[in-house]
Amino acid sequence: MKIIEAASYGFCSGVRSAVDKALKAAERARSLGLPCYVCGSLVHSRAVADMLSSAGIMEIDSPDGHEKGVVIIRTHGIGDGLRHSFEETGFIIEDATCPVLLRNAELLRHAGNPVLIGNGKHSEIMGLLGCRQVPVIEGPDDLDALTSGTSYEAVIQTTLSSALLDEILHQADVKGIYIRCLNSICGASAERRRALEELVLSVDAVVVVGDEESANSAELAALARRKGLPSYLVSDPDMIPDAVFHYNTIGLTAGASAPDQLIEAVKGRIGEYYGR
Ligand code: SF4
Repeated sequence: MKIIEAASYGFCSGVRSAVDKALKAAERARSLGLPCYVCGSLVHSRAVADMLSSAGIMEIDSPDGHEKGVVIIRTHGIGDGLRHSFEETGFIIEDATCPVLLRNAELLRHAGNPVLIGNGKHSEIMGLLGCRQVPVIEGPDDLDALTSGTSYEAVIQTTLSSALLDEILHQADVKGIYIRCLNSICGASAERRRALEELVLSVDAVVVVGDEESANSAELAALARRKGLPSYLVSDPDMIPDAVFHYNTIGLTAGASAPDQLIEAVKGRIGEYYGR
């Protein structure tokens, strides 16, 4: 049995920098004798949440009811109103928003006839909606809310499934709705997807290290399935399904929020099984 790793996987630059900033913010808070918080989940990873919690960082959703301290803004960003309420109540802000998402928020603020394309319950889209309230297109059915013969400018979720985006844009075309996308799927997500497309050519099944809530991890697992391979999304080495151990060649990849230690632990567990 062989494990073949994708050419690109794991932490993207935005997540790596956010985790570094969060750990530095915790040190700063400690030196000031203040509590340290993160607004929402820094990234969609239980392993990262546990790491931050061990560093004394507490997860909160708003300043309400919390002692003033240092607050880290999550990687996916937050709305302007929530940011102001932290500032007004005297919290020290450490902004760990990914620069790609800061740029997308600016694009949305200046877009003409704007829409968002993505999952309305994902923190990235919720953060953008907090900057500007616009219609959200989650799938082709939502296009009914737009007007035929009209042009729109869209900001798309950076981790959106390419298949879903293509379907939405195709259906918009059919309905005579013109949508101009102001951004594209994030380069880091695109690179991991390309690497997986190469990997599936030489393996029997794919293990994706990442959490279910992580859109880019879930999309890697879905992409492998679309390519005709069984795929398993694994957020903990103890949760590797038995089926994984029955293939000759396993392809390994990981979402952008999966920490190196977790990837190594999953790899180690699969290797251990075959070493017995
Ligand atoms: S996947 Fe892209 S947009 Fe998302 S945090 Fe990483 S670099 Fe930023």
